[in-house]
Amino acid sequence: MQKNNPILINVPHASTYIPQKEKKFYTTPNIARELNVMTDHYCDDLYDTGDKMIRFPVSRLVCDPERFRDDSEEIMASKGMGAIYLSCSDGSELKSVSVEHKEKLLTEYYDRYHKRFETEVSGKLQRYGKCLIVDGHSFYDEPLPYEFDQDQNRPDICIGTDEYHTPESIEETLYGFFRQRGYRVEINRPFSGSIVPTKFYQKDKNVMSVMIELNRRLYMDHHLHKTSGYRRVKEDVATAIRLLEKCI
Ligand SMILES: [Zn+2]
Repeated sequence: MQKNNPILINVPHASTYIPQKEKKFYTTPNIARELNVMTDHYCDDLYDTGDKMIRFPVSRLVCDPERFRDDSEEIMASKGMGAIYLSCSDGSELKSVSVEHKEKLLTEYYDRYHKRFETEVSGKLQRYGKCLIVDGHSFYDEPLPYEFDQDQNRPDICIGTDEYHTPESIEETLYGFFRQRGYRVEINRPFSGSIVPTKFYQKDKNVMSVMIELNRRLYMDHHLHKTSGYRRVKEDVATAIRLLEKCI
């Protein structure tokens, strides 16, 4: 049964689905590898804690809802990885799409998701006077060529915060809990920030947000199989989110 509380889990990168009609635009011979390394595999299950969850319905290789819509605002667009990826994680070509096609994908997936996201946050605000977004991700155990942070020494868990939207108590609770459970935890490294729908961004402190990024090596192998650590990670994520519920 779904819990009634101000928590909203966002899982943007767990899908591997590429709609049939889009497949012909992919020029890379390495689509399987790209889906392997770029997808936050199993995160729709790992973050399934009974709290309200929204999941992006298609692969980030179709459209990435966590990028800025407009390439001129998006730093990753310089790597061919704005909201619509044109490049693979190694810099080679992923797909070839026209400007019109790009806009169509943005309308169909990006805009629709953000509308839904905004509606869910508004609903929580109306009902509880506040909302805590938990942005649920995972990351590859080695830096991928497109990533800015190329330090090989990656933590087990990265907590992403936003100066305006992440209360200190939330950051400290997560950090303390995961450390106590034996994980190596870093704040905003190798990835930083946490998503907030534009409507509320830096406008409403009652919309809180924090990102949790799990190093894949904690729960899966390179062949996408779950490992023996899976259950423990899932349980720890659930406990962490219950602790967060208490501090908001
Ligand atoms: Zn992700």
